[in-house]
Amino acid sequence: MSLETLLQRVIRPEVQRLKAYHVADARGLIKLDAMENPYAWPEAAIAGLLETLKNSAMNRYPDPEARTLQQALRDSQGIASQHGLLLGNGSDEIIAMLMMALPSKACVLAPEPTFVMYRQIAGTLGLDFQGIPLLADSFALDMNALCQIIEDKQPALIFLAYPNNPTGNLFAESDINAVLVRAPGLVVVDEAYAPFTEASYLPMLGEHDNLLVMRTLSKLGLAGLRLGYLAGHPALIEQLNKIRLPYNINVLTQIAAEFALTEGDFLTQQTQTLTEQRGVLQAGLHTLPMLTVYPSEANFIMFKAPDNQADIIHQSLKDAGILIKNLSPQGGLLQDCLRVTVGTPTENQAFLKALNQCLMA
Ligand SMILES: *Cc1c(COP(=O)(O)O)cnc(C)c1O
Repeated sequence: MSLETLLQRVIRPEVQRLKAYHVADARGLIKLDAMENPYAWPEAAIAGLLETLKNSAMNRYPDPEARTLQQALRDSQGIASQHGLLLGNGSDEIIAMLMMALPSKACVLAPEPTFVMYRQIAGTLGLDFQGIPLLADSFALDMNALCQIIEDKQPALIFLAYPNNPTGNLFAESDINAVLVRAPGLVVVDEAYAPFTEASYLPMLGEHDNLLVMRTLSKLGLAGLRLGYLAGHPALIEQLNKIRLPYNINVLTQIAAEFALTEGDFLTQQTQTLTEQRGVLQAGLHTLPMLTVYPSEANFIMFKAPDNQADIIHQSLKDAGILIKNLSPQGGLLQDCLRVTVGTPTENQAFLKALNQCLMA
């Protein structure tokens, strides 16, 4: 049997057609491509964490329910005890768990452009993913198209990133509320960028049985720990919990995340600084008249380059030692668009200077 035949036999065609999620090599570059918090931990916090880690039992399986960490999350994020809570190895794993629970061939819907993992994971599971284009320029939900497809396809699961990645905007509350009412299935409001905005659907839990709010510690500053969580009706969380692999949150993540949530005032200060720096970066980008700069409620800014310039700008910045995200290859509404993550003041100035130089060249 040829390897070709073997692959045809054991790998679903939709998986064969997929491309693995690509992460750019950032070695030696100022990394402004992946919405990471650029700040290191203060000495005292590192010392405190190391002290805590001394008591960890690496020979034992982790607490399967991560109870201490769950409580720390509830306390720090204000998730009341009547709501169910599910933890994942990053919110990526939660997206996978949600989709694994669906009936086979179920429809999963999201406006696009959005976080690419919704489409990617739906693809690996053979689900019917429907991406509905956002309105051009405003990147608002196209409610006519959305209501029509909800009617036609009866999606079991809808994802709304709030704020949306990569566009940075918040969808109108009235639109989200209408989706919640019309959706025949679940609506996940993905609040990965909660540390950078006041807006949240957490207070709406309990108003809609089909609402789930997903968050992550990644954009707060703990991307390396991989911890996401999902809050919603306990009956739904109970079902999803059956799909979760028993020890999905490892011992070190449980300890370090709990420490960060209880002792991590510095993280809140860092995200506040980043929110201020977002304004500085925005103002700097606005001085470049050839760019269209979009508003953002997250720790990144999307902007549109002059026609067919995105690839060149991306490469010149890289040559200048700065890595941002080139969205243009995704096409559609993202044609000519680039996305820069808010960094430290020094990093942001280096980016603006290099961008200036390349646009003036
Ligand atoms: C970054 C991001 C995530 C991924 O979070 P992890 O917890 O790191 O897996 C989820 N949703 C959106 C919209 C994101 O931008």
